[in-house]
Amino acid sequence: MKELSTRERMQIPRQAMPVRDPAERRRDFEEVALGLTPELAEREAMRCILCKRPPCIEGCPVRVRIDQFIPLVASGDLAGAARMLAEDNALPAVCGRVCPQETQCEELCVLGRKGLPVAIGALERYVADWAREHGAGRQAPTAPTGHRIAVVGAGPAGLTCASDLARLGHEVTIFEALHEPGGVLAYGIPRFRLPRDIVGAEIRALTDLGVEIVTDAVIGMAESIDDLLAGGYDAVFVGVGAGLPRFLDVPGEDLVGVYSANEFLTRVNLMKAHQAGAATPVIDLDGARVAVFGGGNTAVDAARTAVRLGAAEVAMLYRRTRAEMPARAEEVEHALEEGVLLTEQVAPVELTGTDGRLEGVRLLRMEQGEPDESGRRRPVEIPGSEFDLPIDLAVVAIGNAPNPILRRTTADLEHTKWGTLVADPDTGETRKPGVWAGGDIVTGGATVILAMGAGRRAAQAIHRHLTAKNDLEAG
Ligand SMILES: Cc1cc2nc3c(=O)[nH]c(=O)nc-3n(C[C@H](O)[C@H](O)[C@H](O)COP(=O)(O)OP(=O)(O)OC[C@H]3O[C@@H](n4cnc5c(N)ncnc54)[C@H](O)[C@@H]3O)c2cc1C
Repeated sequence: MKELSTRERMQIPRQAMPVRDPAERRRDFEEVALGLTPELAEREAMRCILCKRPPCIEGCPVRVRIDQFIPLVASGDLAGAARMLAEDNALPAVCGRVCPQETQCEELCVLGRKGLPVAIGALERYVADWAREHGAGRQAPTAPTGHRIAVVGAGPAGLTCASDLARLGHEVTIFEALHEPGGVLAYGIPRFRLPRDIVGAEIRALTDLGVEIVTDAVIGMAESIDDLLAGGYDAVFVGVGAGLPRFLDVPGEDLVGVYSANEFLTRVNLMKAHQAGAATPVIDLDGARVAVFGGGNTAVDAARTAVRLGAAEVAMLYRRTRAEMPARAEEVEHALEEGVLLTEQVAPVELTGTDGRLEGVRLLRMEQGEPDESGRRRPVEIPGSEFDLPIDLAVVAIGNAPNPILRRTTADLEHTKWGTLVADPDTGETRKPGVWAGGDIVTGGATVILAMGAGRRAAQAIHRHLTAKNDLEAG
C-alpha cells in the first residue's frame, strides 16, 4: 500500500455505506444497511490520520483500539484487525450496527472538527462480518481458575461480563429469563437493523469459550441471588436490564389496540406474531393507522416494524423537536425514507374508543419551555391546542424501568427511588457482598455499548476480587 500523507488522507471523502432502496425494504424484514465493500472499507480506513493520542478511543466505553485496527484494515491485514477487535469487544458485529457512534467514538474523531469523521462503526462492522465469514478472531480461555460465577441476564452487559470472565479462566453460567439469549438484541431491536444470525454467531463465540447459558430461568422466582451464592457461585453479576415499560398515564390506555413497545416488538421479534398461525398474534395492521408515542430508538423501531406489517399510515408523535430525539440520527432518517411520519411537539391527553376498542387519540400541541434537569428545554402545553387523530393502533415507547423482581427477592441489594440498583460506576460492585451489577439495571435505559462497558469493568473487578481472595487463602 502506498504511504499517504495526512493531507492526502484528509482529502479522501467519507465512504457511504450502501443501503437498500426504501420502497423495497419497507416491505420486508431483511437488513437495511448492506455494509461496506472491500474497496469502500479500505478507502475509508485510509482516511484515518493515525493520531498520536487518538481521542476516538476515549469515546468508546469498551476501549476498542480503534487507532490500531483501522490501519490494519487499510493495509489489508483483516485477520490481524479481527483478532484485535475480538480481544476488545465481545459483540463487534452488533456494535458496528447499533452503536450511536455519532455521539461516541466518531464524535471525538479529529477529522470531524472540520469535516466528516472516519466511519469507525462501519469499519468495525466490516471487520466483524469478515471475521465471522472466515472463522477468524476466535478467543480462547486461559487455564481454569476453579472459580464459578453466575451472570443473571443475557443482554449486552451480561454477555460481555461473561465473555471477559471466561477468557480469564473462570467457569461462567448465564441465567436468562427468556427462551433466547441476547436481551434487547434478541427481543427489542428488529431484524432489519440487527439480523438474528449475527447476534446468534456472537453468542456462539461465547459458548465456544465454555460459557453455559441456561434459558427460561427467571432469577428471583424459583431461585434467588442468595440461592446462587449459597449454591457454590463465588460471585454474581446482575445484568437484568430495564424491561418494564412506562405508560402514558392518560385515560384510555387499557383499550384494545394499545401496546407497549416492548410487547409489540417482542411479539414480532421473538414470538413471530406477524406470521400466520402465531400463538401470540398482534392485531392485523394491514391498512391500519398507527401512532407511536416517543422519540427514542424503541419508538423508531416500533414505527418501522408497523410499516413492514402493512400499516397504511404510521406517525411518530413526539413531545419535543426532531433535533432532541434520542434515537440514532441515521435510524430516524431511514424511518422517514420508509414513509414514517414525524409529528413534533405533541403530547397525548386521551386515547379514545368505542366498545373497548381504540379509535383515536386526542393530542395537545407543545412548545419549548425552560431547560429541565437534562439540559433540554422542557415541553410545555399550549392551552386550547387540542386536536383529534383517528388511529387503529397505538404503541407506547416512552421508556422503561427496571423490573422489581430481583430487588424484592434479594436481601441487602440497595436501589434508587427509580428502582435502579446502586453500584459503583467504576467496578459495578453493589453493597451486597459477592454481587456486582451493570447495564440498564444500574443506569436505566441507555445503550448497548454502555451496558457492555459496565459488564467489562465488573468482570475486571470480579477477577481482581477473586484473585485477591486466592492470594489471601494461600497465605
Ligand atoms: C427497541 C430498542 C431498540 C434499541 N436500540 C438501540 C440501539 O440502536 N443502539 C443502542 O446502543 N442501544 C439501543 N437500545 C438500548 C439497548 O438495547 C440497551 O441499553 C441494552 O440492551 C442494555 O443492555 P443490558 O444487558 O443492560 O439489558 P438487556 O438488553 O435488557 O438484557 C437484560 C436481560 O436480562 C434478562 N432478565 C431480566 N430479568 C431477569 C431475571 N430476573 N432473571 C434472569 N434474566 C433476567 C432479560 O430477559 C434480558 O434478556 C435499544 C433498546 C430497545 C428496547
